[in-house]
Amino acid sequence: MNVGFIGLGNMGQPMAQNLVKAGHSLTVHDKVAKAAEPLLALGATWASSPRAVAQSSDIVFTSLPGPREVEEVAMGAHGLLEGMGPGKTYVDLSTNSPTTMRSIARRFGERGIHVLDAPVSGGPYGAETRDLSIMAGGDEQAFHRVKLVLDVMGNKVFYCGPAGSGCVCKLVNNLISLSVGVLVAEALTIGVKAGVELGTLFNVVRQSTGNTRRMEGRFSRFLFKGNLSPGFAIDLAVKDLSLELARELHIPAEMLSLGLREYKEAQSRGLGQRDSDAVALLQEERSGVQLRIPEHG
Ligand code: NAD
Repeated sequence: MNVGFIGLGNMGQPMAQNLVKAGHSLTVHDKVAKAAEPLLALGATWASSPRAVAQSSDIVFTSLPGPREVEEVAMGAHGLLEGMGPGKTYVDLSTNSPTTMRSIARRFGERGIHVLDAPVSGGPYGAETRDLSIMAGGDEQAFHRVKLVLDVMGNKVFYCGPAGSGCVCKLVNNLISLSVGVLVAEALTIGVKAGVELGTLFNVVRQSTGNTRRMEGRFSRFLFKGNLSPGFAIDLAVKDLSLELARELHIPAEMLSLGLREYKEAQSRGLGQRDSDAVALLQEERSGVQLRIPEHG
């Protein structure tokens, strides 16, 4: 199948590589041309604009920072809408606002173009190894038509409901996972200050009711090793927590507000491009405890 891919960053790059490796003919674009180099080396073709990607593809994927970039690429000058015809499919893999995706689905739908919002979860490592959840919203028949292509990128592909439903699932997931990150860092600094080694706390909690994927999967790979290069940047965490639906729906969400405050504080300290685990550095500073396990494998 002729597949287009726009946004070749930490997530888009490995997902696009899996599409080429599976034998799809891939046309790519990124606002930073250099980002395409590894894909061109694998046989992908460069296009100079989203419109040009759309003109040569049956299905186009985007993996972009957020709603502003997605709107620009989808509906801006030289955007996808200028190059896509009826019967084609546009799938946005970004973590995006459900409202934005519903409005894009409406505009594209008027021209007979199918749209799915299909954000992903699993990080760059999961994207590389295909250990990725993909949460799709939109027309169910359109979903089933592209399911085989989604399967190439993720091993857990869900149909979540009408347009916007994929974004809702993803935002709920991230609201939980990011807020838990703040809580786990606080609890672990308390434990260390109370006299138990971090390695022991990790081992015990990991096998008890306090375990979370945030601690076992992420802290274990990033924070505990002192590796804070961005798998998932603080800037993206602030974007996701700010896209929260609670305000739109008038639902009180005190815990989420506290979490957002922490990530914003980290951002204002210049940590925006560090991994989201870097939010723990604030608690390390306050407590005087460093959450590192030097021999951690
Ligand atoms: P990234 O910043 O590494 O990549 C974004 C890419 O989009 C960059 O290559 C950038 O140059 C390109 N881009 C930006 N604006 C553009 C435009 N107008 N036209 C063309 N290209 C443009 O971000 P990422 O970490 O790959 O995340 C991408 C999306 O996936 C985000 O919505 C993020 O929230 C979501 N996500 C990220 C992770 C993660 O762990 N990194 C996990 C799940 C979901």
